[in-house]
Amino acid sequence: MSDNSQSISSLIDQWIRPEVRSLSAYHVPDAGGMIKLDAMENPYAWPDAISGSWMEALKKAQINRYPDPGAHQLKQTIKEAFDLPENSGVLLGNGSDELIQMLAMALSAKDRVVMSVEPSFVMYRMIALMVGMEYVGVPLKDDYSINIDSTIAAIKKHNPAVIFLAYPNNPTGNLYSEDAIRSIIETSRGLVVVDEAYYAFAGASLVNWLEKYNNLLVMRTVSKMGMAGLRLGYLIGDCQWLEQIDKMRLPYNIGVLTQVTAQLALEHIEIFDQQTRQICKDRESLYTALQGIDEIEVYETHANFILFRLKTLSSRSVFDALKTQGVLIKNLGDNEGPLHKCLRVTVGTEGENQKFLHALKYVLQKV
Ligand code: PMP
Repeated sequence: MSDNSQSISSLIDQWIRPEVRSLSAYHVPDAGGMIKLDAMENPYAWPDAISGSWMEALKKAQINRYPDPGAHQLKQTIKEAFDLPENSGVLLGNGSDELIQMLAMALSAKDRVVMSVEPSFVMYRMIALMVGMEYVGVPLKDDYSINIDSTIAAIKKHNPAVIFLAYPNNPTGNLYSEDAIRSIIETSRGLVVVDEAYYAFAGASLVNWLEKYNNLLVMRTVSKMGMAGLRLGYLIGDCQWLEQIDKMRLPYNIGVLTQVTAQLALEHIEIFDQQTRQICKDRESLYTALQGIDEIEVYETHANFILFRLKTLSSRSVFDALKTQGVLIKNLGDNEGPLHKCLRVTVGTEGENQKFLHALKYVLQKV
């Protein structure tokens, strides 16, 4: 007979796994009314040139029907639009977050390890714990480059089922050396997933390495190039791997509206490429302006965001004061460690970047 007198908290302690209890849900702050430079979004709305045909395409979408479960046309368009290797397959996720989850679910078993470097994208660790795997994060060097000796030693010790490497890295913005990545792939007996979420801003990709390495997959997203609201990520690699990982996918994970919208957008990819070029240009101006501020140290970036560290002030006080000025960026620096006193700002429009710089200079004098 069930004991209905147990309190909810004791039921939770009994049934929710300890590693889940100790997680904090991914926090997304309210940006209402603020200049939003916290989430690496492309700041540009869709231009009039395509919004008309987009509405027409949406009108024709058969919303009463389930979507094409394999999103065949969209996959083909993605392969062509991004000039992906002929022999590679493509697997689609509801954001690349979902692809990380599918990968982890397919590989999960007791005592198996997910590995990444630290600091990096927090979802690698969170998803590993969610699916009941161990997580090992190998510290980067002080300049955020890969510590190749300790990483190779950790791979040999833990034999990870999968290693995630963000290239460029989030939140640091740098690209790792190709030599370091090569030796990680060659040492690892498990999968290595190179996460190219920011590749469009880097002018660098390892997609051509797929032919050479059987244990390599490359993951990307359309979020940063102007479609964060869609939730569409794609995993590129050998079809034999993708066939296995596809078994973890819930049916119809890419909805009708996403398929129609992404299809249309990628047929006009030059619009997004132009926006990316503009963002890269504005990134250089923002970087130079930040370098001119004495109170901060700015890190090199190959993405659409810039990491900087306050020399004396706390990142929390500057973050809060910026919010009061109507600018939302990301505070990463509350704790001691490699991101102590660090903040990350996404490159916005030229006007938004100016307002941010103005607010930052004001705040640094006042706090
Ligand atoms: N990988 C990295 C390195 C990221 O920074 C992000 C987004 N912050 C993602 C993956 C997830 O992207 P999405 O789910 O929007 O495709």
